[in-house]
Amino acid sequence: MAAVSLNNVVKKFGSLPVVHGASLEIADGEFVVFVGPSGCGKSTLLRMIAGLEDITDGEIVIGGKVVNDVEPAERGIAMVFQSYALYPHMTVEQNLSFGLRMTGNDKADTQRRVSRAADILRISELMQRRPRQLSGGQRQRVAIGRAIVRNPQVFLFDEPLSNLDAELRVQMRVEIARLHKELGVTMIYVTHDQTEAMTLADKIVVLRAGNIEQIGRPLDLYYDPDNQFVAGFVGSPK
Ligand code: ADP
Ligand code: MG
Repeated sequence: MAAVSLNNVVKKFGSLPVVHGASLEIADGEFVVFVGPSGCGKSTLLRMIAGLEDITDGEIVIGGKVVNDVEPAERGIAMVFQSYALYPHMTVEQNLSFGLRMTGNDKADTQRRVSRAADILRISELMQRRPRQLSGGQRQRVAIGRAIVRNPQVFLFDEPLSNLDAELRVQMRVEIARLHKELGVTMIYVTHDQTEAMTLADKIVVLRAGNIEQIGRPLDLYYDPDNQFVAGFVGSPK
């Protein structure tokens, strides 16, 4: 059974169509990367999977269940944003525990999950700091930690590294690959960075203006792109 399937998913904002019938199967534990130029619909697709955006037509299936009408919190997914979206007035520990406490999770279990996430991300020393006392990379770890504490089956990342400088970006890329291995979960990752796509992905989905142009393993796309657009995006030799 696929971890996530999109069946002919359409999105219109008012009368403006932005996703034109996307179909895709993502296997359990797979690392899938959506790439494509700005405005092609990557974030919209991700937000529809997360349940942050209604779908106009079609079907999204997560863990064998149609989730079109299922609330984001009930989908077994967690999303990490580019902007981190941390609460500035809360400590790292509070940032990690807040969502769980809000949904009524008991204190002992919340503490267990928070310290496990902190261990995995190596931020245990930073628990009493506030976001402004953290570096960009540390903030990004906290943002990922907030996803980990929820024990999701599927992680969604929307350009999580694009606010970091080049060196940190490489470090965090390696870190995300490690997390994927260690947690054994499904990851769907949006980027416009070709290197991130090529190094992280089991499977790349190339998008162009709301259409899926090609789906394939990185090297298959690289050596056998369907068209010039895909070739350009994965950096195929001319
Ligand atoms: P990407 O993440 O690939 O840059 P988006 O998914 O953000 O692209 O956007 C796809 C298209 O949908 C763009 O043309 C964008 O302007 C449009 N769009 C996104 N969100 C909205 C919205 N809330 N209302 C109207 N149009 C939107
Ligand atoms: Mg986007």
